[in-house]
Amino acid sequence: MITVRHRPLDLHLRHTFRLSRGASDVRHNLLVELEHEGRVGLGEAAPIPRYAQDRDSSAAVVETMVGRLGDLRAFRDAARAAAVDGQEAAQAAVDMALHDLAGKRMGVPLYELLGFDPRAAPATSYTIGLDTPEVVERKVHEAGAYEILKVKMGSEEDRAVLETVRDVTDRRLLVDANEGWSLDGARERLEWLAGLNVELVEQPLPADRLEETRALRRESPLPLFADESVHRVEDIPRIASAFDGINIKLAKCGGIGEALRMIATARAHGMRVMLGCMVESSVGITAAAHLSPLVDYADLDGNLLIADDPFTGARIVDGRIVLPDAPGLGVEPRAAGSAAW
Ligand code: MG
Repeated sequence: MITVRHRPLDLHLRHTFRLSRGASDVRHNLLVELEHEGRVGLGEAAPIPRYAQDRDSSAAVVETMVGRLGDLRAFRDAARAAAVDGQEAAQAAVDMALHDLAGKRMGVPLYELLGFDPRAAPATSYTIGLDTPEVVERKVHEAGAYEILKVKMGSEEDRAVLETVRDVTDRRLLVDANEGWSLDGARERLEWLAGLNVELVEQPLPADRLEETRALRRESPLPLFADESVHRVEDIPRIASAFDGINIKLAKCGGIGEALRMIATARAHGMRVMLGCMVESSVGITAAAHLSPLVDYADLDGNLLIADDPFTGARIVDGRIVLPDAPGLGVEPRAAGSAAW
């Protein structure tokens, strides 16, 4: 007998976070607890409004999915089998909780259950949202130990912002355009971004502009990574000739089981892999972090961007991800009064 509980998880951002699509200060996530045989597995839904998901739809889908779950020993694929189309954030929450339960049942941390080397966990990048050059410069200084910065682009001031960043730091730089550019605009920007020694560009064109992205890639001086253009494993063969790599997010793909399929499929297509996130607490971030030994880039800073993370889990030490050793996800409620990292 499995029982499900869920409750609102309101996460307040340290800085208003601007993308080319808009800005926000608070994220309305959902915490999911699955209880089975005296153990509790934790999961988190970070609904993506762009895909018609919100906290209420996620809560309803979680309940529907739990009613459909089969044998929990088949935890890798159980959430996929019970999924509701288009509700990947909810699917991811159930999937995380099932993986957490499995690790707790077997008494091993998730990375060990999956057979990964925790020492192979990479450095994580730290995201800097759209802002004025002055504010971006301040954020670069705040980013302290992080050796990789991911800068959001899509404003009139893009070039001034990037030049400011490059003036004040020689750290590795990734750029995320969040679908904000035209083909001609992308051509021009890629040239000067390459001159600033940027390492890759994520989602330069809108997701539906695949042919144009293919054309752009042929002449691009920088690798192009798909984010909005790739959701699930089935998308990868279609986009493989337009991008050099993909950004996998648990909330976008439906969880750990689907992410593992995507990583294997991307590798088979010769693509590089980034593991990204939404704004999430340490529940969702730690779930993704357990997969980070498999990937080239980890962009798992969603919990660093919030002021009120109620949990602890994966930590960042000198810019690198350190996985927790407790069974399952290894996520614990944050002790009252202890500072967020
Ligand atoms: Mg992105």
